[in-house]
Amino acid sequence: MMRKEVTTRRKVEHCLSFDIEEHFQVAAFDSPARRRQWNSLESRVQRNTEKILEHLDAHQVRATMFVLGWVGERYPSLVRQMAEAGHEIGSHGYSHELVNVQTPEQFREDVKRAKAILEDAVGQPVIGYRAPTFSITQETTWALSVLVEEGYAYDSSIFPVRHDQYGMPGANPSPHLLSTDAGSLWEVPPSTCKIAGVRLPVAGGGYFRLFPYWLLIRLLRKIESEGETLVMYLHPWEFDYEQPRMAGPALSRFRHYLNLQKTEGRFTRLLQDFRFGPIREAISAIGQLYQQGVSRQGAIFCTTSASREEVA
Ligand SMILES: [Zn+2]
Repeated sequence: MMRKEVTTRRKVEHCLSFDIEEHFQVAAFDSPARRRQWNSLESRVQRNTEKILEHLDAHQVRATMFVLGWVGERYPSLVRQMAEAGHEIGSHGYSHELVNVQTPEQFREDVKRAKAILEDAVGQPVIGYRAPTFSITQETTWALSVLVEEGYAYDSSIFPVRHDQYGMPGANPSPHLLSTDAGSLWEVPPSTCKIAGVRLPVAGGGYFRLFPYWLLIRLLRKIESEGETLVMYLHPWEFDYEQPRMAGPALSRFRHYLNLQKTEGRFTRLLQDFRFGPIREAISAIGQLYQQGVSRQGAIFCTTSASREEVA
């Protein structure tokens, strides 16, 4: 597989990630009726993702792309295009169902299906997972064992904050190795900043668009000065100011549509202000797991908990 020459790359210090999904798949607007429309609504994910890829290419930055299996199934060439540009392909699950509304069996099928689709598209191991809406919480920690059993080496779904829809207040806010019943798993939480004793999310999505840019930078520099690796996240639909507006609760509409026109400008400044890369490069222990997966390809594609113990 063709890869871009890497010799001119700047050193990677922080993690940049995207959850690759359609604008109509976000959990805030989810309903059985909306899901029935998925195949008939206008698809904008390819165009929006290509916009992101152009910005990344212009700044010679690579990132981790947590691709929804549903998207990967429809746009395998987009997934390949991202991998060929040197981006890491991770899994956002298949159906964008929140973890807490799935049984362990449904969750296993969802993450297995997404991994198979994405690995088929790129011919590389997919070792990272991010749950829809960060929905691994205190009630769904069983999901971590399932991820290990299904061959994932890291998760980026535990948000160590208090929030109405997700979060695990008090969870370790730094990338760390977790132990589960099935073996070890790296956890890579999105960045948070402690201010006056309260841990605030600052790493992406609505928060990235909410704060004035100077304040956002100040908060990110504070996290950096504490020796932390930044873990930022954005979505293709955040780069699409003209997306069709959806009906839904006022708070959801506020969070989804707030300052969309500012995303692109802020994002390009962010790429100039910090040195970002894919999770598997910014966190070297995860990079080693990926390399082991590449060198034993067949093994990591259908890993059992026993063989996972070896690579962990
Ligand atoms: Zn999502």
